Amino acid sequence: MAKRTHHEDHCSFCGRGSSDVGMLIAGVDGFICNDCAEQAKRIADETLAQARPAAVEDFGPLPTPKEIKEYLDQYIIGQDAAKRYLSVAVYNHYKRIRSLGTAEDDSVEIEKSNIVMVGSTGTGKTLLARTIAKLLKVPFTIVDATVFTEAGYVGEDVESILSRLLQVADFDVAKAERGIVFIDEIDKIARKSDNPSITRDVSGEGVQQGMLKLLEGSIVNVPPKGGRKHPDQDYIHVDTHNILFICGGAFDGIEKKIAQRLNTHTVGYNSVQNLQKIDTADLMQYVEPQDLKSFGLIPEIIGRLPVLTYLKPLDRTALRSILTEPKNSIVKQYIKLFALDGVKLTFAPEVLDYIVDQAVDYKLGARGLRSIVETIMMDAMFEAPSSGQKELTITLDYARSQFEKTNRPPMNHD
Ligand code: ADP
Repeated sequence: MAKRTHHEDHCSFCGRGSSDVGMLIAGVDGFICNDCAEQAKRIADETLAQARPAAVEDFGPLPTPKEIKEYLDQYIIGQDAAKRYLSVAVYNHYKRIRSLGTAEDDSVEIEKSNIVMVGSTGTGKTLLARTIAKLLKVPFTIVDATVFTEAGYVGEDVESILSRLLQVADFDVAKAERGIVFIDEIDKIARKSDNPSITRDVSGEGVQQGMLKLLEGSIVNVPPKGGRKHPDQDYIHVDTHNILFICGGAFDGIEKKIAQRLNTHTVGYNSVQNLQKIDTADLMQYVEPQDLKSFGLIPEIIGRLPVLTYLKPLDRTALRSILTEPKNSIVKQYIKLFALDGVKLTFAPEVLDYIVDQAVDYKLGARGLRSIVETIMMDAMFEAPSSGQKELTITLDYARSQFEKTNRPPMNHD
């Protein structure tokens, strides 16, 4: 520190003179330097954030389950069961958080309702979670369960899930502690068989055990930058009690387990009638927690995911609607893209049917739709901005030739 002189003003907090600091701000009875002011702000923010009970007011008025579902309906086609379950679970979750700060009857503590959604790929699981998070304006992150391995093995520690949530919450711990985490591909960390095995299963049961800690609610030491825990790193303590976890997975082959269970249950007195009532084309709708166990999730994890719902495979009608109906449907997005260049884009109705046909072949649910449209529109998107044309109609012939050009079977290649 430079030697104090009599004519120099000093920071009343750190004592440094005006020549040692960036600037001094004058108060009634002293000064504060820019560094101390910044530090004071940090301390104040942290203290206030800790003192504040879960400030649900930040989210605005809480929509009712009906309103949540109506909002989801604008973006997601079908999947009524999943929408209803999700709306109620999310509503209860926030009601629960709201009740935490109040002095009402404390003897009853509402437990949180983490959710698991079962449904094949491209049926809207991620879209549902993402849309709900948008409505609630809470920190939201998507993580893929496949990247995690048991501590000590190549891969990520489960704690890094929370690092990502912290990042999207701008490191506001209180905010992150009320966020939503979507864990995708939860089925991929299933134990390889229903029997606990003696062989190493580093990406299975060990990861489930790690995840359990987060799901059930505990204070977790989180490496701020994600990645591996490191002894020299400073950790941020994150309380996961009020974080809502939504898990999704395709659970390929779970139908077999469901069928087995239904068969064993239907043997006997009412079996014939029961079997007739079962819709064998869509067995997923009968999914129960015990099927997740047969699939290889440990019972403790299943116990922490009390809301279980399923998504239907998308049929042709649903795929067709997805192309045009949602608020930001693929077709609407392309029309807007072209409108920005002053081109009025129209799709002939047969083109939409053709796109649906290709998507059904792809077997990627609605996931295939976008890449098919992208392939068809590629050349037009390249030409339109410089062509000066004002209108463009995509006809079936054009769509087919564009699509077949890129997706021609290898034998036909020139
Ligand atoms: P999942 O997570 O089930 O594999 P996604 O939610 O990621 O599938 O869906 C992929 C894309 O397909 C979404 O971004 C969306 O464009 C579309 N999509 C899927 N299902 C629906 C649906 N039910 N309604 C509207 N769009 C859908």
